[in-house]
Amino acid sequence: MRKTPLHVVWLKKDLRLSDHAPLAAALMHENTIALYVYEPDHIAAAEYDTSHHIFLNQCLIELTEGLRQRGIQLITRKGDISEILHDINRSHGVCALYSHRETGHARSFQRDTKVKLFCQEHGIPWHEFSQNGVIRRLKSRDGWAGRWTARMSEPLAEIPTTCSPYRDRIKSDGILDADVFDKPGTTKKILQAGGFQEANKTITSFFESRGKSYATEMSSPVTAGHSCSRLSTHLAFGTVSMRQVYHQLLHYLALAEDSPPTAAIITKKSLRAFEARLRWHCHFMQKLEDDPRIEFSNMVTAYDGIRDELIHPAHLEQWATGQTGYPMVDACMRALLATSWINFRMRAMLVSFASYDLWLPWQLTARHLAKHFLDFEPGIHYSQVQMQSGTTGINTIRIYNPTKQLTDHDPHGLFVRAYVPELAAVPDDYLAEPWTMPKQIQQKVGCIIGKNYPEPIIDHSTATKEARLRLGSVRRSTVARAEAKDILAKHGSRKRPRKSQARS
Ligand SMILES: Cc1cc2nc3c(=O)[nH]c(=O)nc-3n(C[C@H](O)[C@H](O)[C@H](O)COP(=O)(O)OP(=O)(O)OC[C@H]3O[C@@H](n4cnc5c(N)ncnc54)[C@H](O)[C@@H]3O)c2cc1C
Repeated sequence: MRKTPLHVVWLKKDLRLSDHAPLAAALMHENTIALYVYEPDHIAAAEYDTSHHIFLNQCLIELTEGLRQRGIQLITRKGDISEILHDINRSHGVCALYSHRETGHARSFQRDTKVKLFCQEHGIPWHEFSQNGVIRRLKSRDGWAGRWTARMSEPLAEIPTTCSPYRDRIKSDGILDADVFDKPGTTKKILQAGGFQEANKTITSFFESRGKSYATEMSSPVTAGHSCSRLSTHLAFGTVSMRQVYHQLLHYLALAEDSPPTAAIITKKSLRAFEARLRWHCHFMQKLEDDPRIEFSNMVTAYDGIRDELIHPAHLEQWATGQTGYPMVDACMRALLATSWINFRMRAMLVSFASYDLWLPWQLTARHLAKHFLDFEPGIHYSQVQMQSGTTGINTIRIYNPTKQLTDHDPHGLFVRAYVPELAAVPDDYLAEPWTMPKQIQQKVGCIIGKNYPEPIIDHSTATKEARLRLGSVRRSTVARAEAKDILAKHGSRKRPRKSQARS
């Protein structure tokens, strides 16, 4: 006997039970199930790390229970989503598919194209909902920020707390560990735990205490881990929606407006700085949505060929393992490898060092960082890596000096000494450039440069002068200028909002 066809909610990067339009829409019907698919090709990719998998499974365990309490089965399967849908359609029938729209890498786009085809062939309507400010088939960037604010101000899509359960059991693979997919174990101290309850705790602690000095403490790696929101991973896995975070922001903005400045929990300046970054999240993702090419190729094609070859494979390895001889660069890389997170400024410095000092192809360094960023979000990541590598044509070439970054943001070496223990006893005066330390001090502090800690693998000043010249000559070319004009029209942010645009 043919069973009652199902409403299938396909969960992807939206592992939560609130502000969830696909769940809300599907649960208007009785025979609803939720489906999560472990995609072997996605898991096998170089950017996918075991730490991502651990975070994912923590989300899935919590979600399974949360859905079960509402009477909804969460089915997990390993394989190709189109084939799995085919299988469920054969055994139970699928009358509609519901999901959030995804702005991802090329693989996810190809997968979605296959799903679309499957739905068309079987006459199954696929209801796709947006979950952020990215606009599909955007005609023009004009007015984009206003549309973002309007979207974020919409009410949250809440799901019912109880639903009529679907009685028939459907085959589920359960929670699959990383070793099922031949992923190695991890030695990382993964500091962030997955799940929507964790996301909510993170939001509250940010607005209620941690974020008090966000605007002034976000740049230093000493303070950023505590004072930044740390919501990026939750946004990437969708344990919280951008709209939910924005609604919380409005709440705290209203509180800050009403309170005398000293009583404000988090300063208005910090709230506005935070608001801008939430918008940037979608602004950068919109670039990949509008031009999927930027995952692989220079935004301005005039730069093609200038940095395509890996001339010094050893440099890539030294950079990737934190062995460049530049303490701030090495500390940031090692912090990232240990904790899966580093703040914005230090991410930019890592890429700047790789792209300008070492002249490494950004495609290779981007992949390494993506693997180690627990919050890897393709749209933000590739746009930012290109921006920090000077290939967008529209951004000022910004070369970070690792010595200055240490002096400005870790003058007493709290962060650097924690992650580069070889330098623990090096005096503050030599910490940024330990190779300048006299030999007798090196001996006294037990840090011989070239033995206990590497010599600098490149001369920053010479290498970056050369990089500026090379990029500058392309940038000034007629072809690059013409391209940059088009890029600006297509991707550039429009008039900068001077004040908070938040609607109260
Ligand atoms: C080379 C490079 C690669 C990056 N790759 C990623 C990535 O893969 N995923 C990712 O989420 N962010 C990425 N960023 C942006 C930024 O560094 C992180 O979003 C931020 O450090 C995350 O920490 P947080 O949540 O505490 O940020 P907060 O400072 O608290 O900011 C709040 C939110 O705003 C967004 N945001 C903040 N800064 C930016 C920015 N510059 N651009 C776009 N969105 C921003 C994020 O969603 C973040 O969670 C990258 C930056 C650089 C320079």
